[in-house]
Amino acid sequence: MKIIDILSKKNMSLSFEVFPPKKESSFDDVVRATEEIASCGPAFMSVTYGAGGGTSRYTLDIAKNIEEKYNVPTLAHLTCVSSDHETIRQRIREMKERNIQNVMALRGDLTPELMNTDPSSWAYRHAVQLVRELKEAGDFCIGAACYPEVHPDSPDQKTDILYLKEKVDAGADFLTTQMVFDNDLFFNFMYKLREAGVTVPVLPGIMPITNAKQVERAIHLSGSFMPRRFKSIVDRFGSDPLAMKQAGIAYATDQIIDLYANGITNVHVYSMNKPDVARAILDNLSSILWKVF
Ligand code: FAD
Repeated sequence: MKIIDILSKKNMSLSFEVFPPKKESSFDDVVRATEEIASCGPAFMSVTYGAGGGTSRYTLDIAKNIEEKYNVPTLAHLTCVSSDHETIRQRIREMKERNIQNVMALRGDLTPELMNTDPSSWAYRHAVQLVRELKEAGDFCIGAACYPEVHPDSPDQKTDILYLKEKVDAGADFLTTQMVFDNDLFFNFMYKLREAGVTVPVLPGIMPITNAKQVERAIHLSGSFMPRRFKSIVDRFGSDPLAMKQAGIAYATDQIIDLYANGITNVHVYSMNKPDVARAILDNLSSILWKVF
């Protein structure tokens, strides 16, 4: 099933992101965790892709396993910046062979090795090139990334949104945001997107922070703003793992309810291969999810 068809429904839904293992030895553990999340019945699940290509095979293996065993639609991520044209063509062929219908087209982060080379020698510099290639290659439903707090490489938000619109015009069917901890930043971003003529569905990305160590990592990776209310939770409960987990799940649930209450129907949760967290959020929303209000 295509994700865009799920997003066009009017009911409240939740989707989850999982990531493949870095090493073969942890493959079975990851499969187990993703299956447990799939068994909760999310609207769809996205499976990330290692920018260096190390986990690329696992992305498709995990996506297909979830679809075949649990009938949960999946979104396979694909990055391009550290690849050449032949590798990307090969990945697209593999996706078609395995009947992957939904692809998240991403640039990928710039590695230090890549930064030491001349960008004019790169086969891919921006995700828009991958969006175009996917569009030409087959009947994929294409997702792309967006940044309510502006992508770190962008000089300003206006420029960032201009390039985002280029990705949508090239064929991205929907967008998922970088993690946000402050819904007002998301709503403000949405206003600017609609003003700029970006009309495709946008899924806010919510990351439940369930341990104190995750906070620094999340800020380092995303650059996202941490509201004072969230910082107080970490200050107060960070040293007690169970209390921090409960508070982190409650904070994420609260954010999701606020998004639904303000007209958003689909929310994407960075569930980080944690079935207990995914299940707890779904339980917290049990009388809200799948309903039309
Ligand atoms: P782009 O759309 O190429 O944008 C990157 C920068 O270039 C932005 O500043 C943009 O404004 C600018 N830009 C875009 N087009 C042009 C143009 N034509 N000319 C000049 N400038 C331009 N990384 C992974 O490695 N694996 C994953 O699975 C993964 N999943 C992700 C999922 C989501 C929802 C998000 C938000 C991010 C994900 N990432 C993943 C991280 C992502 O790869 C990085 O954030 C990366 O730095 C940017 O990717 P992008 O696709 O947004 O790039």
